[in-house]
Amino acid sequence: MKDGIHPNYKQTTIRCACGEVIETGSTREGIRVEICSKCHPFFTGKQKLVDTGGRVDRFNRKFGRA
Ligand SMILES: [Zn+2]
Repeated sequence: MKDGIHPNYKQTTIRCACGEVIETGSTREGIRVEICSKCHPFFTGKQKLVDTGGRVDRFNRKFGRA
């Protein structure tokens, strides 16, 4: 390990659009994100952001299976 690679590395918080606050270490301060492990569909199992239903409808119409 070499010293001085992360001279500004320090504790900070990431604030998500859902209200979740995650403490982490970063060279940046006051990081804002629109999605996190608490609200990402992959973790929640909910489809909040992706309209997969509409895509399936279009797919079925295109191939005449509606
Ligand atoms: Zn979130």
